[in-house]
Amino acid sequence: MKNITRRHFLLGAASLAITGIYILSDAKNLAYPILEKPDSQLLKPIDCDLIIENAYIIDGSGNSGFIGSLAIKGDEIVAVGSFPKSRFAEKFDAKGMVVCPGFIDIHTHTENYIHSGGNPVMILAQGVTTQIGGNCGTSPFSTKEYFASLGDIGVNIGLLSGYKSIRYLVMGGQRSGIASPRQVSQMQKKLAEELSAGAFGLSVGLEYYPQNFATTDELIELCKVVKDYNGLYATHLRSESDDLLEAFEEAVTIGQKTSVQVQYSHTKASFVRNWEKYPRVLDMLSQAKSSGVDITADTYYYTFSGWDIGTQPLRHSISEENIELAIIHDLVFFGSDSGLKSGGRATHPRAYGNYPRIIKGITGQKIMPLEKAIYKMTGYPAQRFKIANRGLLKPKMKADIIAFYPEKVKDLATFENPNLLSEGISEVWLNGKWVIKNGQYTGLMAGEPVLRS
Ligand SMILES: [Zn+2]
Repeated sequence: MKNITRRHFLLGAASLAITGIYILSDAKNLAYPILEKPDSQLLKPIDCDLIIENAYIIDGSGNSGFIGSLAIKGDEIVAVGSFPKSRFAEKFDAKGMVVCPGFIDIHTHTENYIHSGGNPVMILAQGVTTQIGGNCGTSPFSTKEYFASLGDIGVNIGLLSGYKSIRYLVMGGQRSGIASPRQVSQMQKKLAEELSAGAFGLSVGLEYYPQNFATTDELIELCKVVKDYNGLYATHLRSESDDLLEAFEEAVTIGQKTSVQVQYSHTKASFVRNWEKYPRVLDMLSQAKSSGVDITADTYYYTFSGWDIGTQPLRHSISEENIELAIIHDLVFFGSDSGLKSGGRATHPRAYGNYPRIIKGITGQKIMPLEKAIYKMTGYPAQRFKIANRGLLKPKMKADIIAFYPEKVKDLATFENPNLLSEGISEVWLNGKWVIKNGQYTGLMAGEPVLRS
């Protein structure tokens, strides 16, 4: 019944375009899809702290949105969809708004800023509720110590264990040489400790000194440990420009030889002379996946990288066409590559604007349905990083929830002025706490550590 109704509903909207954003804005004049019958175990009234009602719920799974309510108790979602009258302390009417999981940004360099108890408003205002730090090989030396010394934090934070940090601890002053077998086994031991302490995997930044001294064989030895812990290998390739194809080949080889899960970080082909290579890279990505390598990639939504910042005039080393090819690719989802200095300053606008820019750009240009874009910011990264209790709106998940009118969402941060807050994500709940209310940060520090499960 429900499916038939929804199909009719979609057919009605199909002449306009089957995108979430269209369905939402045109739904006013059309019948809404009929909701599933209430779950029989939910027939009795629900006790909850907060009800969000009349929402256009996009649950993060990639499925079509639907009109319904959400019930939250403590830091958990307890009911989604249609359920009987409930006892609640607080109510929020989300009529006309999209309600979806808070975004999960798996590629950041914000771990020190968050650890310092920094103001999270630039992150929350983008709808981001969880970040994974420690990317590109640079991480705290000790995952255990990082989490043990964490005070009140403004967003959820998880870590990767960085190759540079591990290499430094083991090789000290000789860190620019080739690692001996003994040093490699010491690095393996240290990496195992980090993974035991909850790090999601190993990150590398092979383009950077001294990480560029890592041999493929050494990385394979380390990835065997990552595989043992069911973690992932997040790789900033040895080259993102002239030697891109060979560099990507190395990542695929490491995936093939160790069966480790590979995350190809901030995928791109830098500089005009290399743009033509990018479709090949995406073909190689698809081929690697079909040959059995467990691989995905992430991208941010800007045509200039951190390296381009400071060039005059601003260099756009990434092509718009290639970004579009990346974002519609089924194996690519989103990550910001953002960093924050003390005081919350950023040099690249992605730290303040990446996610609203995606919503505005993708839905404005009708590149993909809003449901799919949201999946690539919530359910997909959660699934790849095995964050079991976030990234979807369903009972027993943590209540990381955002609400917004899609047409009002916009990024304001630019190359000239990167520290302008995004607008339009007007409500954010983090672990059940209302942290952005009517567009204003409430000052609550409601973040939690996120450990590899
Ligand atoms: Zn990087």
